[in-house]
Amino acid sequence: MVLLDGKSLANEIKDRLKNKVDDLNNRDITVGLAVVLVGEDPASHLYVSMKKRACDYVGIDSYSLQFDENISEDKLIEEIEKLNSDSRIDGILVQLPLPKHINTDKILSLIDPAKDVDGFHPENVGKIVTGLDGFAPCTPLGMVRLLEKYNLDDLRGKNAVVVGASNIVGKPIAALLLNLNATVDICHIYTDNLKEHTLKADILVVAVGKENLITADMVKDGAVILDVGINKREDGKIVGDVDFDEVSKKASYITPVPGGVGPMTIAMLLENTVKSAKQKV
Ligand code: NAD
Repeated sequence: MVLLDGKSLANEIKDRLKNKVDDLNNRDITVGLAVVLVGEDPASHLYVSMKKRACDYVGIDSYSLQFDENISEDKLIEEIEKLNSDSRIDGILVQLPLPKHINTDKILSLIDPAKDVDGFHPENVGKIVTGLDGFAPCTPLGMVRLLEKYNLDDLRGKNAVVVGASNIVGKPIAALLLNLNATVDICHIYTDNLKEHTLKADILVVAVGKENLITADMVKDGAVILDVGINKREDGKIVGDVDFDEVSKKASYITPVPGGVGPMTIAMLLENTVKSAKQKV
């Protein structure tokens, strides 16, 4: 069994991006990412500070916009529109979840698709599904980079099974795996007999948020396992959705949690932001 080491690959990618940003800066071109945060959710604050640190490392100018929980939808729209027309900003990220009184879909679809480095705008979703060059969402894109790194990205004749069908992970990774020529099953909470599906998987992606959802009896010998889940145990330990100890005995490749898919997500946010800056030049 080989560990898919997202932490090392993310560091490698960040170093490469740092060189690219240096080159752009030497040509007087700056790279800027705006992160919009509404409210006081501690997890969101933590993610935003991690993103800021990663931007600092590669030399991307990060602009952090923090708003009160009670900001009106109209005011937030006004702020997004300002960022859309601000030439210093190449990427706009709205940290989710937004408070309930704000229509998330409306906000995400107002971001200029050319600055939509999270890949949630319907135009980018359409491009990804069609196989055109757009911004793919960071977590799914990070998984594709991991498959590429370990030469696992030729999926002709392979069965890929995605467990979890959210707009930010499950659906887009299914589209990307299909673009890599896999035969793709998408499972979700209403799927009957999950095991019947997962047992067919040469590549199994699990993005649910339920510890031990996937046990060894549900996995085919030699499968490649990408565990997206993040679950915090009472003792503070972070684990994925896959029973790592048992499943890793059967898998050919598997992502650890933490250190697998997670670090790749932030690296891809930076990659998308640099891509956007290069496109403006
Ligand atoms: P979500 O809650 O939006 O979607 C969960 C999906 O799982 C849904 O499609 C639901 O139908 C399905 N599901 C729920 N219970 C199921 C079951 N028993 N069997 C089969 N399917 C079931 O979640 P999300 O935003 O896609 O995130 C999923 C997990 O991935 C979470 O743990 C989240 O923290 C983690 N995550 C990690 C990263 C990362 O960078 N590593 C990024 C995003 C999300």
